[in-house]
Amino acid sequence: MKVRMERICYSYGAKAALTEVTASVPSGSLTGIIGPNGSGKSTLLRILGHVVRPASGRVLYDGADISSMPPMGRARLIGAVLQDPGAQFAFTVGDVVEMGRFPYNGLLGRSGRRDTEAVCDAMRMAGVRDLKGRQITALSSGERQRVFIARALAQEPKVMLLDEPTSHLDISYQLEIMEILKGLASSGTTVIIVMHDLNLAGLYCDRLIALKEGRVVSEGLPDDVLTADNILEIYGVRAVVKNNPETSRPGIVMLTPSSKP
Ligand code: ADP
Ligand code: MG
Repeated sequence: MKVRMERICYSYGAKAALTEVTASVPSGSLTGIIGPNGSGKSTLLRILGHVVRPASGRVLYDGADISSMPPMGRARLIGAVLQDPGAQFAFTVGDVVEMGRFPYNGLLGRSGRRDTEAVCDAMRMAGVRDLKGRQITALSSGERQRVFIARALAQEPKVMLLDEPTSHLDISYQLEIMEILKGLASSGTTVIIVMHDLNLAGLYCDRLIALKEGRVVSEGLPDDVLTADNILEIYGVRAVVKNNPETSRPGIVMLTPSSKP
């Protein structure tokens, strides 16, 4: 399912967070949203998930305006792992992942074989099967992050939205999560992920959307977005970008402010 943002504007009070954001996300792609702190990435992701309504502009899923979809239809379509999952109640991992089936079962929560399968598959994919009976409050942040990813996977969404799912994780967990998302995209799910690590973004993403101060400054293939000029413009940081012959992906080395170009 392809996702299109058209001229999206959003403000918190008088402060503009997004201005005329237009961008496209191809179906089945792993698309990264990058940009400095405060550039509007999380706000944009919440708008894509219909958690927040834009002041103007629209979000189209395969051409259909997200705001005119029925809520349950929307819930089946979109899986989200947003930042700061909020209050942590003492649910077990199994309970949390099962909550991903809510759009199919409604409040009565009667689950059938299809639901059990989806929950099992999701736990296997996210590598949390062994944690099934544990309380989520007793997990490490890396484990908990994977549980929330499993919950979104159990939902079997067409579009998956994730806000910095690898922050605070060590490098092996980061790669593990990126591998899960890459697999998901190659099986046809559209994955949109807010990322901080430009090397990880360059390594895994099919496309990137770069924001600065609430505007799109660059959009396209990682090779075209992650240029030294763009990194200087977006982050104010000098960098050397070289194609890594091992991965055929852009590799970025930041220069210290005092180092010679
Ligand atoms: P990012 O995720 O790129 O760091 P955000 O979307 O969180 O950026 O924030 C974009 C801008 O909106 C920032 O200037 C931020 O301070 C502001 N902002 C975000 N959330 C709120 C809020 N709840 N109330 C007021 N301002 C906010
Ligand atoms: Mg954010």
